[in-house]
Amino acid sequence: MSRVSKTHVAVIGAGPAGLMAAEVLAQGGAYVTVYDSMPSAGRKLLMAGRGGLNLTHSEPLPQFLARYREATPHLKAAVEAFPPKALRDWSDALGQPTFVGSSGRVFPKAFKASPLLRAWLRRLDSAGVQFALRHRWTGWDESGRLVFQTPEGPRLVDAGATVLALGGASWPRLGSDGAWVAMLAAKGVKISTLRPANSGFTVAWSDIFRDRFEGQPLKGVALTFGPHTLRGEAIVTRAGIEGGAIYALSAELREAIVKSGQETLNIALRPDLEINGLIARLSQPKGKQSFSNFLRKAVQLSPVGIGLLQEAAKASGLSLSSLSPAALADLINAVPIRLTGTAPIARAISTAGGISFDELDADFMLRGLPGTFAAGEMLDWEAPTGGYLLQASFATGAVAGRGALKWLNQS
Ligand SMILES: Cc1cc2nc3c(=O)[nH]c(=O)nc-3n(C[C@H](O)[C@H](O)[C@H](O)COP(=O)(O)OP(=O)(O)OC[C@H]3O[C@@H](n4cnc5c(N)ncnc54)[C@H](O)[C@@H]3O)c2cc1C
Repeated sequence: MSRVSKTHVAVIGAGPAGLMAAEVLAQGGAYVTVYDSMPSAGRKLLMAGRGGLNLTHSEPLPQFLARYREATPHLKAAVEAFPPKALRDWSDALGQPTFVGSSGRVFPKAFKASPLLRAWLRRLDSAGVQFALRHRWTGWDESGRLVFQTPEGPRLVDAGATVLALGGASWPRLGSDGAWVAMLAAKGVKISTLRPANSGFTVAWSDIFRDRFEGQPLKGVALTFGPHTLRGEAIVTRAGIEGGAIYALSAELREAIVKSGQETLNIALRPDLEINGLIARLSQPKGKQSFSNFLRKAVQLSPVGIGLLQEAAKASGLSLSSLSPAALADLINAVPIRLTGTAPIARAISTAGGISFDELDADFMLRGLPGTFAAGEMLDWEAPTGGYLLQASFATGAVAGRGALKWLNQS
């Protein structure tokens, strides 16, 4: 027999969006239970804190909002109501003051997510928020009750309002696996296909290159794809290439690859050197040294950079040492890398696609499922890394929480 319990609001998903919704609801006097399939809350938030928890960004709000691309009009009100300054104050109030890094990104001074999450969970607990972990939501029964699979068997929950904050589909081992898509699609909710965002790409490296350079960073390079050029770092992976500069171009690259099957990205290995200076360096006598040594000394190329040049030369049936200084300089300025596909969503930092904004009212309530709200990465937006992902997750969670409160007060 399934157990049936009553709760005023069920928040499903204990990530930043769900926890923020729960906080707003509890502050508004609602009786809230947060359900999550995992044995503990906020696993992806903790992972996000591994390399420094980039909570938000300090750039002016209009610039900040533009990072959400086509979704900007849909997220504007949410982010304006809970802007980066409010997020920083909120973190401060949890005993986690923030600072602005040299790139304008905002981090907690502790850098990690764990002290922030711990303090937040304590505060939610004092506000009366209940947690039901190891509860995997699998949809609704025929009476509209929420169905959860738990270690003790199925559990049915009759909620006055529900906030869905189930995340995207990247890093599924942290809990967000995108299984909700089928449940909502079955209810007629329009969902844009979940796709990798801030992801790597596949490249058919030669065995020699892959074995030698897997895991090696390409530092201080400039990447060009179509009209976009940006500086940063990329990392060679077994299956291709990833890293900050790649993530920043990933939306454009992904969409182009969907259309054409593959795309070429150009990497400038020495973007700071003028072409004539580069040619002059490459025209120096080589002496008896190997060609790789010559390149390393004359142009300060790293072994992985030289490896990339060799891959490109081989693909065109040429040998590097046969190129003129001018042709070699051109290659160093734009090594073509053929991207054969997008890396799997499981390895991406975040997810593009999700519940279409047409399906939501201004409170992020699903028009076709009155009393059910949605927030966070499960909505159809994407953004680069830089704190925009967490900011939108927190801000949309707050909107859904306020919306659910309004709904409870009306009904
Ligand atoms: C490695 C990595 C680093 C990152 N670094 C940053 C960063 O520095 N800055 C930044 O802004 N963003 C970063 N992000 C992205 C950020 O963590 C996410 O955008 C954010 O966590 C999304 O919040 P959310 O609440 O929507 O979803 P999630 O945090 O994914 O939470 C969703 C929750 O729902 C639960 N759930 C899913 N399905 C079910 C179900 N059927 N039943 C019950 N529970 C379910 C999951 O277990 C999970 O706890 C990073 C992501 C990764 C993977």
